[in-house]
Amino acid sequence: MLIRTGIPTPEQIEKVMPSKERLTQGPVAVIECFQSIPCNPCATSCPTGAILPFDNINDLPKFDENKCTGCGICVSSCPGLAIFIVDETYSESEALVRIPYEYLPVPEAGSVVDATDRAGQIVCKGKVVKIFTSKTQDKTTVLSIAVPKEYSMTVRGIKIPKKTETDDICICRCEEISLEELREVIKQGYTDFNEIKRKLRVGMGPCQGRTCRPLILREIAMVTGRPMEDIDLTTFRPPTKPIKISVIAGDGNEE
Ligand code: SF4
Ligand code: SF4
Repeated sequence: MLIRTGIPTPEQIEKVMPSKERLTQGPVAVIECFQSIPCNPCATSCPTGAILPFDNINDLPKFDENKCTGCGICVSSCPGLAIFIVDETYSESEALVRIPYEYLPVPEAGSVVDATDRAGQIVCKGKVVKIFTSKTQDKTTVLSIAVPKEYSMTVRGIKIPKKTETDDICICRCEEISLEELREVIKQGYTDFNEIKRKLRVGMGPCQGRTCRPLILREIAMVTGRPMEDIDLTTFRPPTKPIKISVIAGDGNEE
């Protein structure tokens, strides 16, 4: 199930749930890591030893809920985006869920978002209370979302409600970048194709920019007033058009 859909089963979730007693004591990590892979930043980053040192790099995390302070360091360190912090003591009616977030744009503090479950289905509204962004940009952004308490163990993601009609316009199909996201980074000062490529990954998918490149150049030109031919392009590397592997293998039958 997990391998086919990316969604853990209720039985898997049940095994990593903190105890009811621990949930009454404040924020605690919920480690939803179920695949044995060579990875251990959760254990090496945890300052309290709540995530026990791995005997083998392929181990699944072993967690001592009583040593966890809910600091959230492991959330931004986990490359699998598999760790969440749940604080059911946040208020009478709401819980605070801290989730890793790797999309752009990052929602603003105070904004109301659609909170989603593990399958990406919207389950309730949530309010963005706090945003942690790594200064060195080598850690994952973490959002603190206040949600109705009954959804504390359901909410594991967010969607930003669409604000404008440009939100629906797709500029880069390979990397699923909307016109809204492109305009946001241009507004931030990224006005060169290479910079935007590094920021949004446009042009790095299977089509290698054949679709998005002219659209992006046109948008940059419109915003900056520069002629399209004056905007630097990214480097073109061979093959500059799709070719059969037999051509590379050199079987001599292809022109
Ligand atoms: S929240 Fe902090 S204390 Fe708890 S497991 Fe993560 S890093 Fe360790
Ligand atoms: S860092 Fe994340 S993905 Fe890696 S083992 Fe720990 S919980 Fe799993």
